[in-house]
Amino acid sequence: MDTTSRPMIEAKQLTKRYGGVTAGRELAETAVSHLTFACQPGEIVGLLGPNGAGKTTTMRLLTGYLPPSSGAAFIAGHHTVNASLQARQHLGYLPETVPLYPEMSVAGYLHFIGKVRRLDDVWDRVDQVLEAVGLLDRAESFIGKLSKGMRQRVGLAQALLHNPDVLILDEPTIGLDPAQIVEIRQLIASVGRQRTVLLSTHILAEVEQVCSRVILLMNGRIQADLPLSQIKQGGNQLTIQLANPSAQTHEILQGIAGVTAVYPDTPNQFLLSFDGRDETRQLVAETAVSQNWGLLELKTNPHSLETLFLEKLKEAQTPTLSLVGGGPGRGPNA
Ligand code: ADP
Repeated sequence: MDTTSRPMIEAKQLTKRYGGVTAGRELAETAVSHLTFACQPGEIVGLLGPNGAGKTTTMRLLTGYLPPSSGAAFIAGHHTVNASLQARQHLGYLPETVPLYPEMSVAGYLHFIGKVRRLDDVWDRVDQVLEAVGLLDRAESFIGKLSKGMRQRVGLAQALLHNPDVLILDEPTIGLDPAQIVEIRQLIASVGRQRTVLLSTHILAEVEQVCSRVILLMNGRIQADLPLSQIKQGGNQLTIQLANPSAQTHEILQGIAGVTAVYPDTPNQFLLSFDGRDETRQLVAETAVSQNWGLLELKTNPHSLETLFLEKLKEAQTPTLSLVGGGPGRGPNA
């Protein structure tokens, strides 16, 4: 596990256009656009979005499986294209569909993967990951005879085999039954204790149960990037919408007594965590007026991930509102 504070996963203005030529006409669909975010050591981050939002594309770009059209991705500081070997040494990847060989035994398959990755002491590592994912008693079972949940454990085991400090998991619970979903989520939380994890999902509950932070992706753009604690804080969050915010607005809002955190939401909108006191809300309103920011709206949010998701989905369907910034210290994603 990396103990420095450098980001373990970093996307800088990542953009992917899928190109093609049909009837002599060049077609290019932008699957993801200017994604900028960073995951710090120890974070479990959920990449949440409806189908077609660009989650799989993002994961393929981060893992170096696809080259970006522009922008760059880094794993543990290594460029995923220019230093792909070093990046991959730090990275375990569970793709949406794991290429498993049904005629191989669980242990045999993992040993084969270990050899391909040129690991030392492969059998020791196989034993360790089998224990980590709870498959020791299935070591000799044929993969083709395992349940889907068990096969997903094998997928996780191959991702963990070289003991990476970063895990990227694409829809890890898709197609599993409810009991298997619970098991895999527990497993992710457990292996994630020592690692940085980015998992994609379209299931809100998955993020709430497993993740400490959520990045909301819609139409290939980041619509929100917030710690879960922020979302769960219920009524202790305000949204302020301003017609004319200035470059100092963030700082001034941050300085108001009772305001504990400020997150840029859209260029004209900020989310504020506050102490829940009416005096604080009054101060925020008075400040916006005295600073001539053009106060359009100040509201207390009845917050849950679901309301955030639905709000953002609505905004994403309104093209003029879809350009937003990230959480604290993160660059704009427009
Ligand atoms: P998600 O994982 O969120 O469902 P994807 O990353 O799979 O989203 O897809 C994002 C967009 O990119 C979709 O509009 C999809 O049709 C398109 N897309 C994905 N893969 C390809 C591809 N290989 N060629 C062309 N378009 C693609």
